[in-house]
Parts: sequence; structure tokens; C-alpha cells
Amino acid sequence: MSRFFSAKYASLVPYTPGEQPKERKYLKLNTNESPFPPSEKAKKYAAEAAEHLELYSDPECTPLHAAFAEMCGVDKDMVLATNGSDEILNFAFMAFCDKDTPAVFADITYGFYKVFAEINNLPSKVIPLRDDFTINIEDYFGAKGTIFIANPNAPTGIALRRDEIEQILKANPDNVVVIDEAYVDFGGESCISLIGKYDNLLVTQTFSKSRSMAGARLGFGIGSKALIADLKTIKYSTNPYNINSMTMAAGIGQLDDEEYTRKNCRTIAENRDYLTSELKKLGFTVLDSKTNFVFAKSAKISGGELYTELRAHGILVRHFTAERISEFNRITVGTREQVDTLLGAIRDILEER
Ligand code: PMP
Repeated sequence: MSRFFSAKYASLVPYTPGEQPKERKYLKLNTNESPFPPSEKAKKYAAEAAEHLELYSDPECTPLHAAFAEMCGVDKDMVLATNGSDEILNFAFMAFCDKDTPAVFADITYGFYKVFAEINNLPSKVIPLRDDFTINIEDYFGAKGTIFIANPNAPTGIALRRDEIEQILKANPDNVVVIDEAYVDFGGESCISLIGKYDNLLVTQTFSKSRSMAGARLGFGIGSKALIADLKTIKYSTNPYNINSMTMAAGIGQLDDEEYTRKNCRTIAENRDYLTSELKKLGFTVLDSKTNFVFAKSAKISGGELYTELRAHGILVRHFTAERISEFNRITVGTREQVDTLLGAIRDILEER
């Protein structure tokens, strides 16, 4: 730390992203990216946009907002594109929390929520998951804060049903409820259809997982016009050109090819179910995932050791050291071939013991 770093950030612990190692070619099953490339249209439109990088990107994101709003079945003033969904989540912490309105989230959930609360100097109220890692929705009734729920949750993969989220919305009419749907396309129930009914609901989604665009950084907020207007105030006060022209064009191309996205999601869901049943045959406990990853632990090898041994076999998975989950690894679902490579390595590792 330099002697110039503001004291207000001195104790900030930044979010640790999954490794992106360069020293060797790993099978990367650690950051929940798609194993499939973006659609041909996304690549083509992005290349065309690159011809005009001398110009600023459209701060209104007009065609992208129109295309995404149409896909969601909402008005274009009810969506806001951001630089990854991390940015819309940060905007939501800035816009809807303050010293009297804490951020409310689970003890085991997306690690960035804690960091966003800290960097924005906001109080947080942490609600433990049950022992089986499910959310008890009643814990969120009358929560007296802005609620952040990843649905499906990460890193557990477990999803709440839409009617359960609706009960949380009803029980918090005077607070915003943010539903982070980063993984919803792999088998969860989206809450976008509830937006017309609840002015306190903000849904966030990303193009990083189901839409194969993690490197382009594109996310969205979807909510009432009033909530989106607040978030636009934050956007125009920080970075009006938050979406670059290539990403905007790629996003439109990807939305133009929705069938490709749907097909990839179906394949990943099939591969996830196959991976889950094979891991169970090997004696693993695997949580019920509705995402593109599984969260699994073995009675024969600790979470940390399995992570290290897989790494030595050229496979990266994600291991978290937090107490309740340190026996688990979060494993991204890849192609069928990648899943088989992973399973082969796990069988070898277990046999060597
Ligand atoms: N929410 C959850 C639950 C996530 O796991 C991630 C991915 N790290 C994000 C949001 C943010 O993803 P992105 O910024 O790539 O849209």
C-alpha cells in the first residue's frame, strides 16, 4: 500500500477472481465460463463495430436495450446494460443501500456482495443458509434492508422457485429485492415476469455464462422504470460509456441467435446431470445444481487436496476456504469430453489413495 492510499480503503479486502493462469494450458473448470464460443453473428457484428472505434460508444445503448427488452418482454426503459453484471450489482448497492438500509445477503453466496458493501461503506446483514445450504425464505421476511439473492445461488447451485421469491417480495414492500440471475438459463425460474407486479424487484442477468461472452463484459438490470432511472443516474455519474461498441454489437448478435444459446444451455444441463450422477457413483455428495457448475465434496479426499491434485493433472476447479464449504469444490460444467477428462482424473486420484 502506498502512503497515498485513502484511509477509507485501508482495510478493504478485494474480491478474488478465479485464476486465469498463463504458465500452462489447463482445462479451465474454475470460473463458470461457457465451453462454447459466442455465436457467429456476435463475432461478425463485433468485428464490424471495431471498424469505428474512433467514435465513442452509444451511451444510451439504444439498439442493445431494444433487443434485450424485447427478449425479456418488457419496455426498453425497464432495462439497463452494464459492464458485466458486477457493475449493475455495484450500482444497486450504491443506489439502494445506505447507513440505515443495510445490504442483506446469505453467508454463503456470491463473494462480491460483501466487497460491494465494504467499498461503498455500507452496513450489511448476513443471513446464514440452512445446514443443507438451502435458503429459508422466512429469514428474509421484513428484512429491513436491500436484499441480494443469487438465484440460483453460487457457489451452491441451489435455486429457489419463483413463488418463493414472490413471497420475499411481498414481505418486503418497502425495500428493494435484487435477484441475481447470473445462472438462471441453466434450469432456474426467472423472476422477470414478476417485474410488472412488484416495483421493488430488480433482476440482474449476465451474458458471461449462457451467452458465451464473459470476455466482452455485458450484464443487465431489469426492473420498473423508476428503479432503472435511479440506476441510470449512477451510471451517468460514473461512466456513461460503460459498454464499448464491440460488446454492444456482439450482444445484439448473440440475441439474434437465441436458438444457439438455448441449445448450448440444454447441452450444459445434460452434461451437468451426467457429471452429477457419475460423481455420486464415485461417492461424492453433490448439491442439487440448476446452474452450469456443480458443488461437490468427497468423503475420501479433502476439498483442498482434490483441488491441488486436479491442478497437478492440468485441471482447474474452484476451491473456497470459507469454513462451511472448505470440503467442497465448485466445478464448471464443460463439454461432454471435458467432463469425461475431469472424471478420468478424479478416478485416477481416488485410486492412487
Ligand atoms: N453473480 C454471480 C452469482 C456470479 O457468479 C457472477 C460471476 N462471477 C456474477 C454475478 C458476475 O458476472 P459478470 O460480471 O461476468 O456478469
